[in-house]
Amino acid sequence: MFNASFNCNVCDAANIFSPPGDWRESPSCTTCGSSVRTRQLVYCLTMRLFGEGRTLPTLRANEIRGIGLSDSEILASRLVESFDYINTFYHAEPKLDICNPGAAWIGKNDFLISSDVFEHVPSPVQSAFDGAFAVLSPGAIFVLTVPFDQRSATTEHFPNAKHFRLVDFDDEWLLVGKTDAGTYEVHKDLIFHGGPGTTVEMRFFSRQAVIAHLEAAGFIDVQVHDQAVPEYGIFPPHHEGLPITARKPSLNA
Ligand SMILES: [Zn+2]
Repeated sequence: MFNASFNCNVCDAANIFSPPGDWRESPSCTTCGSSVRTRQLVYCLTMRLFGEGRTLPTLRANEIRGIGLSDSEILASRLVESFDYINTFYHAEPKLDICNPGAAWIGKNDFLISSDVFEHVPSPVQSAFDGAFAVLSPGAIFVLTVPFDQRSATTEHFPNAKHFRLVDFDDEWLLVGKTDAGTYEVHKDLIFHGGPGTTVEMRFFSRQAVIAHLEAAGFIDVQVHDQAVPEYGIFPPHHEGLPITARKPSLNA
């Protein structure tokens, strides 16, 4: 299985897969630097759109409109060549707050990619799933990754902090939360993804809770993609944070 040859579905380069340090996140395409997670996203997206895995450089589908939520530059730079695709951001233009999407985004997209974003949004997290449903057109595909495992319920690190600020205090990052009752609470020992002060982990999902959030938003045909796809260098390293896809019902469904 290892040191297996594969074709990168992000850049179409031939590669030899050797186990990287961090299986899910480390670059494992020697040409574009894509990770297993990035190639999983492309595989799941093209499987759900076309019924088969496709490589982005061989794909021209500008009639298909999609958006990403802070997708990596490696992925976004290739998606924009293959689709009518816009990468969006919470803090920068083009701005999209998936918990409260503006009218301009509603109901217009054939796919949405949200990779490792929903663990960072404020509570209640159902708002993010509802926002994802809202920005999609009927029949559209949602491709999601979040950290999850088999725990019985999602672990919310700051369940009462409806609003929060991160504070760099004496060389330590603190999360100051304000509750619905107007009281303040201070949390330490924060978990950051991608560097302190940027993306604090708000929760760690339960697999069954993710599926329940999707179904509560209205999504159907939820799939958890745990299969290896050796020809694209996709060897799922573990069963946490696998891609999940779902569909918004068609109007005639
Ligand atoms: Zn590549």
